[in-house]
Amino acid sequence: MSRGPVGPEAGVGAGPDAGVEAGPEAGVGAGGPADRRPEAVAATLARLRRSPFRSRFHLSASDRDYARAKGRQTIVDHARDLLRGRIGAAAPHNDGRQTPMRGHPVFIAQHATATCCRGCVAKWHGIAAGHQLTDVELDRLVEIVMAWIETELTAHPASPTPDHPTSD
Ligand SMILES: [Zn+2]
Repeated sequence: MSRGPVGPEAGVGAGPDAGVEAGPEAGVGAGGPADRRPEAVAATLARLRRSPFRSRFHLSASDRDYARAKGRQTIVDHARDLLRGRIGAAAPHNDGRQTPMRGHPVFIAQHATATCCRGCVAKWHGIAAGHQLTDVELDRLVEIVMAWIETELTAHPASPTPDHPTSD
């Protein structure tokens, strides 16, 4: 049974990325950083779920409502913009602290999927810091973020909305 990349993470308490998880790139999946096949994405999500730190993050009811109201394509667009803006640069300002803990479902998803900063991206996704993310790399990370959000939405189905207000 593999333990997945634990280690420094276990002691993170001060903030989301207080101890940017250094160490070997234990978690790089078989397919490598550009592997966008559904099974590669699923394998990455499975590794993330084994992390006590990552698995602590969940969408709130209002995050889920927001994601459902906007629809998948809009959230994909947001995810690409937010990731490019926060982790796209070769050396993002304040790396490890640039991604808020609330305010958009993608932010929560970034913490849950280790796409919050280049330190985490390097460790979990095998994409070294120090270069601007390519479109392929960005798309792969967006794919993982979206798969995580969809998992959250599936786990919490929308409550049925009555067609009519309950007044007769
Ligand atoms: Zn991070």
